[in-house]
Amino acid sequence: MDANRTCPICFEIPEQEIYQCAAGHIICSRCIVTLSICPQCRVAFEATKIRNRVLEEILDAEEFECPFKDGGCEYKCKRGDISKHAKSCDFNPGLVSLCEIIGYENCKYTLGSSSKSREEILAHFQTVHGCGMADYGDVKMLLDPEELNGDDAKLLRPVIISQQHETSDLFLLVGKINSPLGFISEICIQVWGNEEPVKPKYEATFSIVKRPSENNNGETYIGNSAVLKLDSLRLQWTLNVYTVEEAKYVLEATPINVPIPFLANCLTSRNTETILEVKIFPAVPSSNIAPTLNYYC
Ligand SMILES: [Zn+2]
Ligand SMILES: [Zn+2]
Ligand SMILES: [Zn+2]
Ligand SMILES: [Zn+2]
Repeated sequence: MDANRTCPICFEIPEQEIYQCAAGHIICSRCIVTLSICPQCRVAFEATKIRNRVLEEILDAEEFECPFKDGGCEYKCKRGDISKHAKSCDFNPGLVSLCEIIGYENCKYTLGSSSKSREEILAHFQTVHGCGMADYGDVKMLLDPEELNGDDAKLLRPVIISQQHETSDLFLLVGKINSPLGFISEICIQVWGNEEPVKPKYEATFSIVKRPSENNNGETYIGNSAVLKLDSLRLQWTLNVYTVEEAKYVLEATPINVPIPFLANCLTSRNTETILEVKIFPAVPSSNIAPTLNYYC
């Protein structure tokens, strides 16, 4: 990048007003407020800042490449939009390729900056990945047919958990079937929060419970021989709801692992009595938000 067009302090193309010292060295509007002398010739900045409108106009006429061009981004934009784009650019290494991490290997969608709106995130998971949204209703977590490719760990189609109003936090429930280990691994990730940057920490409780049913004899059949008497079981797990940034590290390390037999019918039948119930609540017991989700397996 041409040194005469980038700010000598932040090394970026100035996105707003461009100023200069008495000797003509430029500096951007963000950096000049932090300095009293020109970083290049050390002459003091005037009390009345000198604006360089000619360079502003020259740069206004141009299009600039994304800072992550080397990573593969082909986006070009006006100088005023560079950092806005970079914040949500799918090639920004500071963002988390959540879809890839959870198992959608060909999806480059990223999260981790506050620049993506709740609507956009919802639309992505609903439209691109066919995710259901659970409020307080009945939601099924079924095997995603697209993912049935013989891998050892198969992805269950994630479910978005949120209340219906526009400011409700969004959680993504991700599950994988790990056949060799005999578990279904579940993790809950907060993908959007209303209270950024101060996010409350949440916890999620997963329980396997029995759905009341009129012709329910209390037995769940697994394969053609094993029988689980769920009446006698109270299975419950609690784990942290993770941030998008944490998801990268915890997805393989610390999910809850539900033995496959307990949820086997989730995968093959829409009409059984076992429910995986998920409750999300703030880790600090100060709020009354308690979205509840029932998986009718
Ligand atoms: Zn600067
Ligand atoms: Zn100077
Ligand atoms: Zn980009
Ligand atoms: Zn995606």
